[in-house]
Amino acid sequence: MRQSLRLGKVAGIPVGVHWSVGVILIIVAQILGASVLPAALPHQSAAAYWTVAVIGALVFAASLLAHEMAHALVARHNGMKVRSITLWMLGGVAELEGEAPSPGADLRVAAAGPVTSLAIGALLAGLAFATGYGRGPAIVATAAMWLAVMNGLLAVFNMLPGAPLDGGRVLRAVLWLHYRDRQRAALAAATVGRYLGFGLMLIGLAEILVWGSLLDGLWLMLIGWFLESAARAEAGAVVAGTALSGLRVADVMTPDPDIAPAWSTVQEFIDRVAAYSRSEAFPVVTFDGRLVGVVVSGMLARVRPEDRATLRVDRVALTVPPEYQAAPGDPARSLLDRPPLAGEVAAVVLDQGRVVGLVTARDLDWRIRRARMGARPSGWSRDGLKVGHGI
Ligand SMILES: [Zn+2]
Repeated sequence: MRQSLRLGKVAGIPVGVHWSVGVILIIVAQILGASVLPAALPHQSAAAYWTVAVIGALVFAASLLAHEMAHALVARHNGMKVRSITLWMLGGVAELEGEAPSPGADLRVAAAGPVTSLAIGALLAGLAFATGYGRGPAIVATAAMWLAVMNGLLAVFNMLPGAPLDGGRVLRAVLWLHYRDRQRAALAAATVGRYLGFGLMLIGLAEILVWGSLLDGLWLMLIGWFLESAARAEAGAVVAGTALSGLRVADVMTPDPDIAPAWSTVQEFIDRVAAYSRSEAFPVVTFDGRLVGVVVSGMLARVRPEDRATLRVDRVALTVPPEYQAAPGDPARSLLDRPPLAGEVAAVVLDQGRVVGLVTARDLDWRIRRARMGARPSGWSRDGLKVGHGI
């Protein structure tokens, strides 16, 4: 989830919003200002309805943020790193680095969000009762009660037992304790998440076809579709992580990849190397072997023909951020933590400052497919097939 707008840091955690959070603010304000408040308390001024509605929408966004902050703070308390929190149309995402150290920690992190939503719901319901008995404006009580119910629904929806919902994480923690195998538990929770997504889509379809409520049905189908695809992605990530577990970067890299000399022109490099290479990505190195960047074939293709004879390769190269530089002995699983650079490069592999390998998205994909066949690379040497048949 890309942050469109950074709001700053809360408790040291970068908090941002995706542009789609604007949609939820407008929907909530619209529901409150145009239907809930006028229906409950007629004959008030439009200004009163909309002031309370806008404040209500902001309180709703704040309660989403509190839900994610709870996940993040409990994760940090359990020794996990929190990268960021991003709010978006269907709630929030707290991006955690690495995995929970134990089923108990997994459970606490997962449950913290819904528990917080329930607590906020109770607080708002309390506010509604306190202001509802003549001690405050009734319009505030109505809005607070509606927001209390929404927070309750948020907690209940999130406790549906399928990943990536919080309930799915709770299920994963419980199964992890039961199976004593985190991967197996995560795969099961993701599978339940997929069925849950299909189920919501079916209910949405039934709403449209049987009850004729088009908008509610479409909304439910959208959420179901989102849930199913997120669960499928999560299952894929679990399978990929399992396939790469125990392997080192050296086991998955292409050793001694074709490289691009920083000083050659784009035309020279295309003529001499890129035209014949099976590789789509090339580390760019200086005369003394230092890495200065990486080029992928698509970037070369975009250089205008009239510039190719004069433009040096290092001028079109992408710099390789530290997280895309790996050592041969690093765990291969760490390569799955972020999307490939330029869609191609999982890591440039360096040994004492020299490029010794390249891991592309296709290298990872190939290794994962082989592992799914049951093939393990033990007995593979750095140069390829070596043992097995005594040839
Ligand atoms: Zn949550």
